[in-house]
Amino acid sequence: MDIQAQTLFRVIILLSAICSLAWAFLAYPQRIAPRASWRYAGSYALMMLGLILTAARQAEPSYLYWFTADILLLTGYLLLRWGTLQLFHLDSGIKLDVLVLLCFAGLMLLVPPSAASSLYLGSLFSIAAAWLFWRLAQANFEGLSKSMSRWRAWLLVSPILLASLSFVVRLGVILWLGQDGKRFVSLDTAEAVPILWLYLVQTLVISILTVANAITRLVTKIRYLADRDLLTGLWNRRSCAGKHERLHQAWEKGETPVYSLILMDLDHFKQVNDTYGHLAGDEALRQTALLLQRECRRDDVLCRFGGEEFLLLLPNTDARQVRELAETLRQALMQNPLRWKDQQIPLSGSFGCATVRGGLMPTDMLETADRALYLAKDAGRNCIGPESSRPIEAGG
Ligand code: GH3
Ligand code: MG
Ligand code: MG
Repeated sequence: MDIQAQTLFRVIILLSAICSLAWAFLAYPQRIAPRASWRYAGSYALMMLGLILTAARQAEPSYLYWFTADILLLTGYLLLRWGTLQLFHLDSGIKLDVLVLLCFAGLMLLVPPSAASSLYLGSLFSIAAAWLFWRLAQANFEGLSKSMSRWRAWLLVSPILLASLSFVVRLGVILWLGQDGKRFVSLDTAEAVPILWLYLVQTLVISILTVANAITRLVTKIRYLADRDLLTGLWNRRSCAGKHERLHQAWEKGETPVYSLILMDLDHFKQVNDTYGHLAGDEALRQTALLLQRECRRDDVLCRFGGEEFLLLLPNTDARQVRELAETLRQALMQNPLRWKDQQIPLSGSFGCATVRGGLMPTDMLETADRALYLAKDAGRNCIGPESSRPIEAGG
């Protein structure tokens, strides 16, 4: 065995072992994406075992050093994809991958497990590995493109695509060189050193990419928790304040000619809780969120402003249009009572609107809408309060 090839092989085995331990550490004491992390840990452990068995190949036939080694490596690649599916909560399963792997295993068993069959076995392994890495790249792309642009996602998965391509090239080399190709397939010869370097770099880059995936997923989750209201999934008040500020700046710069907002408060909501229970109240809030969302345009921002209060930011909407929309929403609420355990719970809301004009700051607009909402409550609820330029007086 070539000494440099042997050293490189050992480094790749060591790297797989470290990756496996690192993922197991994330999975168990750290509990970071534990299900995906366990799959990644298992994947690298199988790859490590497969490589150890591959390195132990002798002249005599052995199912352990040939067949088992190859299947362990391929199963390791399959587990990488399984981990990615879990990490990004993707729907597609691994049934097809398992089925294809079983077919390849069957084909591998057709020949004696020894160096004499290395061209046949090497070809089968290359096809299966290229296919599995292609599937892994697809899954990564699907997951990453949820939280970034398509070209950035492609850029990030390009190392996996290259890994897939490298197995296609390996297959090409085997088919092209015939018997001479054995020196490349065996991986313990001087000719195999560049290929081993390639594998080493690939293993490193793919490990880094898998960690990057986990971080992307964590950051997406943390952002969601920071910006969203957990009950309704709408923007929360904090993130909405930022969006309001940016919309106001866009208006000041003339990027949007006008904008308005609606503040809506459900009527007698305490009674819903008191009569039907908190769970019914929660469901009413979720249904209201869906109802309002249905009426929103793509650029509108809908947020849960407080307990049973909702805020809508409406770019390119003037004073007349905002009242029309508020009226539509008021009627939609009335026409859609909450169905709760064979009962119908009527819902209604009171509305306050405000439209931007010179001299008004975002907080002034909220105050104006709040004032209008107060007047709507005062007028008997289930209506739209008149917009008043009067500031709120002490004591309402
Ligand atoms: P009004 O018509 O004057 O607005 O009366 P109201 O009963 O709607 O207003 P009030 O401020 O008295 O009560 C609001 C209720 O909303 C009280 C609170 O328990 C309930 N609430 C706030 N957040 C939630 C929530 O997340 N889930 C549930 N179920 N109830 C909530
Ligand atoms: Mg209320
Ligand atoms: Mg309220």
